Amino acid sequence: MTIDPVGDLPFHDRTDFADAARGFIGALEPGVVTASDGRVVWDNDAYAFLADECPDTAHPSLWRQGRLASTQGLFEVCDGIYQVRGLDLSNMTLVEGDTGVIVIDPLISAETAAAALALYRAHRGDRPVTAVIYTHAHVDHFGGVHGVLDGPVPILAPDGFMESAVSENVYAGVAMTRRAMYMYGVALEKGPAGQIGCGLGMTTSTGSVGLVAPTVDVVRTGQEEVLDGVRIVFQLTPGTECPAEMNFLFPDRRALCMAENATRNLHNLVTLRGAVVRDARVWSVYLDEAIRRFAADTDVAFASHHWPTWGGDRVVEYLSLQRDLYAYIHDQTLRLMNTGLNGTEAAEALAMPPALDQAWHTHGYYGSVSHNVKAVYQRYLGWFDGNPARLWQHPPVESATRYVECMGGADAVRAKAASYAADGDLRFAAELLDRVVFADPSDTAAKEQLAGVYDRLAYGSENGTWRNFFLTGAHELRHGIVEAPPTVGSAELLGALTVEQLLDAIAIRIDGPRAWDEVLTVDWRFTDLGVVHRATLRNGVLTHRIVEEGGDPADLTLVLEKAQMLSVLLGVGLDQIQTDGDLGVIARLLAVIETPDTRFPIVTP
Ligand SMILES: [Zn+2]
Repeated sequence: MTIDPVGDLPFHDRTDFADAARGFIGALEPGVVTASDGRVVWDNDAYAFLADECPDTAHPSLWRQGRLASTQGLFEVCDGIYQVRGLDLSNMTLVEGDTGVIVIDPLISAETAAAALALYRAHRGDRPVTAVIYTHAHVDHFGGVHGVLDGPVPILAPDGFMESAVSENVYAGVAMTRRAMYMYGVALEKGPAGQIGCGLGMTTSTGSVGLVAPTVDVVRTGQEEVLDGVRIVFQLTPGTECPAEMNFLFPDRRALCMAENATRNLHNLVTLRGAVVRDARVWSVYLDEAIRRFAADTDVAFASHHWPTWGGDRVVEYLSLQRDLYAYIHDQTLRLMNTGLNGTEAAEALAMPPALDQAWHTHGYYGSVSHNVKAVYQRYLGWFDGNPARLWQHPPVESATRYVECMGGADAVRAKAASYAADGDLRFAAELLDRVVFADPSDTAAKEQLAGVYDRLAYGSENGTWRNFFLTGAHELRHGIVEAPPTVGSAELLGALTVEQLLDAIAIRIDGPRAWDEVLTVDWRFTDLGVVHRATLRNGVLTHRIVEEGGDPADLTLVLEKAQMLSVLLGVGLDQIQTDGDLGVIARLLAVIETPDTRFPIVTP
């Protein structure tokens, strides 16, 4: 049983295995990285089972992708350029310069980044790190920077990097983090019937995350920099896979870094953990520009995930297919939308062209055609499909109760669901059983039946994140809500938030109804920034703006440096902060700030 047909996929073509192994120098033995307290933060050896034949609990195409992505070690990309792969979700690339080595993308955790650098040095000598490049502002490309820095060196990043790096988790961070547990299968056992990767890589490391601000911004396409004697030509690609991202060419080595804009899967236009929808059209346009600017000077293209592509013609073919992939999904979704199809219908109707079906790297291991088509629909038309019957539907519990009643009660619905499942219509079986569970979450038999359907959906899925969602849903139906693993809270990430972002973060946590009758103003006078931010709470909403000195006094004025702001907001106290006015205002404000529920239910009401 597969959701995604295995069809006539070219399993005989071993090119990817040859490329993933090419230039192998040495592996980390064992492939495990621990923190200073002994806690395991990365265990690639846990995926050794992928060397076995694909069992019937996994889609053969995803199994293949997991086997490739779990290939671990130090690899030569070309003369002077190396990659460490399989030591985190992402790759670390090392470019040798005149006096040391440039690190591209220092992984998620300081521990895995240090292990990757040590593996490189064990084989290439104890070269100092002379520069760092962040390809883009996602945490798997900067979080481990402290693992590679010995002292101050130039750090290059695309324009808008800091804003993008810290803002993604400010507003919807709690919900995204909870949903990311599902997306990466954090709670699942690694094994043939469990987590076998997420398509983009295996999983995320769980060490300490940091952020050191860039010292050099790349602000325009065509910008050329020389780092440690190495010439680099940049192409900015804002609004593709990340709001701040860039590709770049090493012209003297004829090597092209494609960041995360062209990896060996169909990427996400919207990630299942939730995100602002990305622009497939712009993504495709920048891939075309990369071909136009760089392909003639490229013998090898590598990226921040997966393995490189060698040979000028193969690079052009690879990038062209990736370009066509995003453009096709974008254009065809719009065409179908304009014939009246909604997102669900368009996702069902859209068929990929044969060449994109036959190439492995265009397959939906991380993104999927199905959810990317819905993302394009969402970007242009939003959640409403125009049908008034779907304009004002009951929420899930109210709807489920009514459906189950109409269908003759839980037992009757469960029997129907079993029949659909037996006929292979797992999608509708899941829909029916979800209604039974939402109508009565204490019905353990229904929960077990639904979990069994989710298992089968997972085993048939070519997409790693779909598989992880189904399996995590099954796990929580059987065992209850999973506690998030302890994250190493990064004071550096919080410290990098702007005053506006911090005030926004508080505004989002105001319990509106509880604060309806509260009226107060607080002036934050920053001695180091030379500005006053006034926050006003009224009508259950906290707004803020910069005000001139000497206007109407606020209820309370705090005179402080920006670094002290966080401790006030966390309710730690007002040590060494000069105050003027009614100190009771702080307690009144903190009293209406809600602590978010990081373990909210998903597969139960
Ligand atoms: Zn990444």
